[in-house]
Amino acid sequence: MVGGNNTFGKTICSICYEDLKPLVEDLQSISICGHVFHELCLQQWFEYCTNGKKKNCPVCKQTCSEVNVGRLYFQSVGDTNDPSTLSQKPRDCEENPEELRREVKRLEGKVSGLSLALESQQKEFNDVSEEVVDFFIICLVAQTIREKERKLI
Ligand SMILES: [Zn+2]
Ligand SMILES: [Zn+2]
Repeated sequence: MVGGNNTFGKTICSICYEDLKPLVEDLQSISICGHVFHELCLQQWFEYCTNGKKKNCPVCKQTCSEVNVGRLYFQSVGDTNDPSTLSQKPRDCEENPEELRREVKRLEGKVSGLSLALESQQKEFNDVSEEVVDFFIICLVAQTIREKERKLI
């Protein structure tokens, strides 16, 4: 897959496959191998890694740790035109991963609860629709009987 000209020029984060936007997003690089990711993506990846094996680079599997990771700072010519990108310093993003993790847990619980409810509702719906079909057949039979009776009269 070397030399694919079609994708040339696009810089993406190998974790989420979104574009890397150096001037508006917080990016981090693993100093050992040089691979670059979104800061949040890399943090999440490291959290995922601690569940089992050693931490490594999602691209080249080079063993590393948070110590080997550094924030990247880009200098842009257009900075003066758009001060909002400068003033939006990463402080609030770094706030607390703990709370984020709790939020994720809460949402995950909600999702599994909802899908359980959906499942049981689907089952109920199937039961009901079978009953409806039975009822419909009975109605049809009753109607044909009534028609026959009418003809007899
Ligand atoms: Zn990413
Ligand atoms: Zn790497």
